[in-house]
Amino acid sequence: MTIETEIVSWRDDAACIDSKIDFFPNPEDVAAISAAKEICSTCPVADECLTYAIETRQSEGIWGGHTPKERVKIRRKWSEQVRRAS
Ligand code: SF4
Repeated sequence: MTIETEIVSWRDDAACIDSKIDFFPNPEDVAAISAAKEICSTCPVADECLTYAIETRQSEGIWGGHTPKERVKIRRKWSEQVRRAS
């Protein structure tokens, strides 16, 4: 399964699919970021979204309820867990 196939398989269930909320807000716009995160908190495919964003190194936007900076921290944590497991 390619990454494109994977994203197609979950995006139809995304809570943001018909949302007017901006999921690529200015990084300083706390209100806009909170609004996007609120939608993500109700999303049935948030885990898939977050995993996709981290695996494909999305550097902008709110994915899986997390900002780019938050995803960098999660990616580091995941990498550390993989290193420890091997
Ligand atoms: S987690 Fe957020 S950005 Fe990702 S699909 Fe769901 S609502 Fe959209």
